[in-house]
Amino acid sequence: MAKKGNRNLFIFQCAVCKAKNFTGSKNTVNNKEKLMFKKFCKSCRKTTEHNEIKLGK
Ligand SMILES: [Zn+2]
Repeated sequence: MAKKGNRNLFIFQCAVCKAKNFTGSKNTVNNKEKLMFKKFCKSCRKTTEHNEIKLGK
């Protein structure tokens, strides 16, 4: 029973080279804090930390 309107798009940006490698969405009602993810960066060619950047509005 998911409510509409609470989903926001995010870009995940490499903390090292600032490449915007991934996009995703999450429910900001349940996840208000900024998250960091370890993901593989194609530019760095290794796993780096990725910060989320809010899209839109
Ligand atoms: Zn990178």
